[in-house]
Amino acid sequence: MTAGLMQTPPLQIIDILKFASTAHARREIVSRLVEEPTFRYTYADSARRAAQAANALKRLGIGHGDRVSSLAWNTHRHFELFYAVPALGAVLHTANPRLFDEQIVYTINHAESTVLLFDKNFLPVVERLAPQLTTVKTFIMLSDEQRTVPGAVNALSYETLLAKESADIAWPTLDENLGAFLCYTSGTTGDPKGVLYSHRAVVLHAMASGLASAFGFDAFDVLLPYANLYHATGWGLPFAGPINGCKIVFPCDKTDGASIQELIVNEGVTFSGGVPTIWTMYLSHIEKTGETPGKLKRVVIGGSAVPRAMAETFKKKYGVRVLQIWGMTETCPLGVIATPTPELAEAGEDAMDEAIWTRQGRMQFGIELKIVDEDGKDLPWDGENSGALLVRGPWTIRRYFRKDADAASADGWFDTGDIATIDAAGFMRITDRKKDVIKSGGEWISSIDLENIAVACPGVKIAAVVGVPHPKWEERPLLVIEPHEGQQLTEADVQAFLEPRIVKWWKPDKVIFASVPLTATGKIDKKVLRSRYATALTG
Ligand code: ADP
Repeated sequence: MTAGLMQTPPLQIIDILKFASTAHARREIVSRLVEEPTFRYTYADSARRAAQAANALKRLGIGHGDRVSSLAWNTHRHFELFYAVPALGAVLHTANPRLFDEQIVYTINHAESTVLLFDKNFLPVVERLAPQLTTVKTFIMLSDEQRTVPGAVNALSYETLLAKESADIAWPTLDENLGAFLCYTSGTTGDPKGVLYSHRAVVLHAMASGLASAFGFDAFDVLLPYANLYHATGWGLPFAGPINGCKIVFPCDKTDGASIQELIVNEGVTFSGGVPTIWTMYLSHIEKTGETPGKLKRVVIGGSAVPRAMAETFKKKYGVRVLQIWGMTETCPLGVIATPTPELAEAGEDAMDEAIWTRQGRMQFGIELKIVDEDGKDLPWDGENSGALLVRGPWTIRRYFRKDADAASADGWFDTGDIATIDAAGFMRITDRKKDVIKSGGEWISSIDLENIAVACPGVKIAAVVGVPHPKWEERPLLVIEPHEGQQLTEADVQAFLEPRIVKWWKPDKVIFASVPLTATGKIDKKVLRSRYATALTG
């Protein structure tokens, strides 16, 4: 055997911040905060404060293998913890505040965290849950000294703790396969499941996601992450940004259209990202006010299917390119990304847009894809055959946290629970989640495709399609519409809009006008809709 003769330093997350604090020392990080004025500093300052935060946590007894939970928004303080905690060899569990109380408790107890750091407006939640948090010993409010309220949990002030510490630290050398982040899936079925990201997975994912063939970052970019840091590490933007020297703007908890627009314009944002619901609010705001999105050039959208109408409006009206991504907590989360290819460009811009807007994305180096039929046999990549989507690669899950059996097969394939087609060029299109697919008379109806068409109907804000029991066809589609404020729509209007756009047998059996419930990660909560309307076609 001839061994390679190159160096093998472990891939460590802290090296990203160390690099940025030198190579992009003066590049800015801007952060909105709860009840505090907007804060600004540089990568160099941020690295110093991450060291102070690590020294403070060490003093509280945090070290190798320990778990620390955060219940926090997208702020510079949460960003500091993204580096300080893993750099100690500890694991940061980013608790999701949008989960139900019992699920938040479950995840913090399951993580066995001993410290909980939280933003000020979570104090009532923390006080309410504290008696059930069996392992947490120290509560820290991510706030300055004067605004910290100890409350029933005797919370310490983050800023007071940091002020006492030196910015000198000898970061330990860690095994790159050590756990760094513990992210739970939102658990729409059963208990949330923990996915434990390693340093190696996070660093490789961050290097890949900034590439020109992915998010395409450079040092002139200004990022505004609306993907929550508590959900799959904010899609890795807190790592891909510093690697590429991007300015980062953290929006804290303000996600209304006016607040988004203010940051985009005032901070010169070139790139933003978040789930479709955020961009629905944003577009409806700027459409109402007649404003334009400043220097914004690219928006990455994922988590649920991007309505075609959204991508089209962004591009045609505002000159902003939408990059749809598909991924999941189990893939760190980037899986595929919809970027153009020279082959598509040959067919002209309209055809290229069409191809890109109607697919989740194209395969990326680092994530292998395949689709299989019910017997596990590979299906062809013809853009027609659909089957269970399986993935594997260095940032794909092997096993859930504290489970005995692997979630992936012996050769690494992980079943995503999604149903998809893949075409010859590696473009993947999700047609459904396995449990959401509508089985009508032995044929499948794609709830996502129907939603995509219905949401383009004038006056519609959110369209949700679920399969509900039907006496003859087993299941039939039911369409729930949440109209834009002040819009009057009838079932006949919606059906007339759908009719020329869908095959006959996809016609929803009923259209209901109601507000659409969303999950903790901003997706349509189909479980709730299915049970609410279970007897709509039979009862
Ligand atoms: P949770 O399951 O906790 O809501 P995840 O981020 O892990 O959060 O969800 C992953 C799932 O979200 C995928 O398996 C897929 O069903 C869905 N998803 C993600 N991105 C897209 C997309 N662009 N189009 C359609 N579905 C998507």
